Parts: sequence; structure tokens; C-alpha cells
Amino acid sequence: QAKQQGRNHYQFYTEQRKSMSQSDILLRSQLQQAIDAESLKLYYQPIVDLSNDKIVAVEALMRWTLEDGTAISPVEFIPLAEATGQIIPAGRWALKQACKDIHELHDLGIERVAVNLSALQFHRANFFEQVESILAESRTSTDMIELELTESILMENTSNAITVLERMREIGISVSIDDFGTGFSGLSYLKTLPVSKLKIDRAFIKELSDSSSDRAITQGIINMARQVGLKVVAEGVETREQLALLKDFGCGFGQGFYFARPMPLTDLIQFLKSRL
Ligand code: C2E
Ligand code: MG
Ligand code: MG
Ligand code: MG
Repeated sequence: QAKQQGRNHYQFYTEQRKSMSQSDILLRSQLQQAIDAESLKLYYQPIVDLSNDKIVAVEALMRWTLEDGTAISPVEFIPLAEATGQIIPAGRWALKQACKDIHELHDLGIERVAVNLSALQFHRANFFEQVESILAESRTSTDMIELELTESILMENTSNAITVLERMREIGISVSIDDFGTGFSGLSYLKTLPVSKLKIDRAFIKELSDSSSDRAITQGIINMARQVGLKVVAEGVETREQLALLKDFGCGFGQGFYFARPMPLTDLIQFLKSRL
């Protein structure tokens, strides 16, 4: 049932895509120019340890601005780049850039940078070797990066996913499940996956103060995650009330506009210095 729903949803999506293909063709060639010119950017958003309010990590988020100054949201261009395969070079660039930038942040208390991955990248032959060589070239140790995957990436080809995840774990790269709660996997299934962290989707955090069912779900995820030894990050923390509830529930980490918005590296460095 769940699987079928997923498939229907996907079909609907591809039909929509087809009807947008004219503007997509233009956008696709503009995206190619941006990749070739390395004019994509990474913004960084702080991730806070809720036990001591310290910023311990950042998430790298891709940004794309057209030459006329129009910003295109990743919600729009990432699916396009996935459909065209452009996510492969764009994602490789992002990982390289994040590995370069983490060296500047390490002295300011940032232990690691989290990088988002798409299914196409993750399931590609030699993906693991590519990560290893990017780390080696940039002299980045495996505990300085973290990879974020969605549940659907893991469900797409579970046996390959487990193989790659096990190799990651062997060399010390930790992996988080992004947007947790929006997919179809359960926590029992998670127990079998070599991942170390869950990021609770912001959909559950949004109405935490007003919705008792969202509170129950969030609390449930946190409790069960703790029992199977997974760390938890709450995404989309925007208010002091949400933060108080999350601390109450024993949530380990938080990320959201309440703490800081995603920002360019230079702004982040200023921000971190001002807090030292
Ligand atoms: P995500 O990985 O779940 O990233 C979190 C998104 O939530 C980011 O949106 C961030 O700006 C936004 N956000 C953070 N705190 C708050 C908050 O308090 N309130 C609200 N309303 N939003 C908040 P963004 O940057 O637009 O990215 C959207 C999605 O695009 C990401 O979701 C991720 O799935 C994808 N994405 C971004 N960069 C990359 C990338 O380099 N590679 C891949 N494969 N995907 C990426
Ligand atoms: Mg993410
Ligand atoms: Mg997320
Ligand atoms: Mg997301």
C-alpha cells in the first residue's frame, strides 16, 4: 500500500515535469553553465548541541543565483539536476567545497560539516571511492564530514545502500537520515541500517507547540532513537517554545532559524567569532 502510494506520487510528479519541459530546458542549460563556471555556492547552517547550546556542526546547502540576480531554490533545481544527471558533477563539487571549507571552521569549534546526497550519487558505482579520494585530496579526516541521505535513497536499493553504508562506517564517516518521518520506513528497519543519526523533519517541529499528535510523534522518535543508539537532530526549530519542548524530550541537537539561517562561509566565520 505504502509502496504503491509512493509510485503514484512519482508518476504524478514526472507528468508535471513533462509539462514544464520548456522552461526546464532553459534552466538546465543555465545550470550547466553554473556548474562549469563553478558559480554555485554553498551556504552553511549551524547545528546546535542542545545540552550546552554550542554550535558543533554545520549543514552545507547549495545555492544558485542566475546572472540577473534571481535566486533559484534548491527545492526547484535539485530535482531538476537529479532528473538530468547534473547532480553528479554538482554534488561532487559540493562535497569538495565543503571539505575545503571545514578546515576554516574547525578552529572555531565546528567539528564537522554535513553534506546532502542524492540517490543518483549515492547508488553510483565508485561513489565510495570518490568520497575517499575527495577526502584524501583535501586532507579531510573522515570524522570532519557527515553525509545526509533520505529514507527513499535507502529504500531504493537497500542491499547496495547497506553495503555502501557499512564501508562508510568502517572508515569512520557517519551518516544521517534526513527528513525522518516523511518516508515509509519504520524504526525497526532503521535498527538494521548502519547509520548514526536521524534528522526529524521540520513538518513535525512546525506545530510542536499546538499539536499534541506532533508532540507525541516527535517524543516517540526521540525515545526510540535513543534506545537503538541513534542521535537525533530536530530540523526547522524556529521558536523558543519549540526549543524548550525539544530539550524536555531529550533531543540531542537542533537546527533552524531560531539559531541561525543558512549563510555564506564568510558570514558564518564572523558569526562564530562573535560568539566566542
Ligand atoms: P534539507 O537537507 O532537509 O535541508 C534543510 C532545509 O530546511 C534547507 O532548505 C534550510 O534552509 C531549511 N531550513 C532550515 N531551518 C529552517 C527553519 O527554521 N524554518 C524553515 N522554514 N526552513 C528551514 P534549502 O536550503 O532550501 O534546501 C532544501 C533541500 O534541498 C534540502 O533539504 C535538501 O534536500 C536539498 N539540498 C540542498 N542542498 C543540497 C545539496 O548540496 N545536495 C543535494 N542532493 N540536495 C541538496
Ligand atoms: Mg539535509
Ligand atoms: Mg532535512
Ligand atoms: Mg528536506
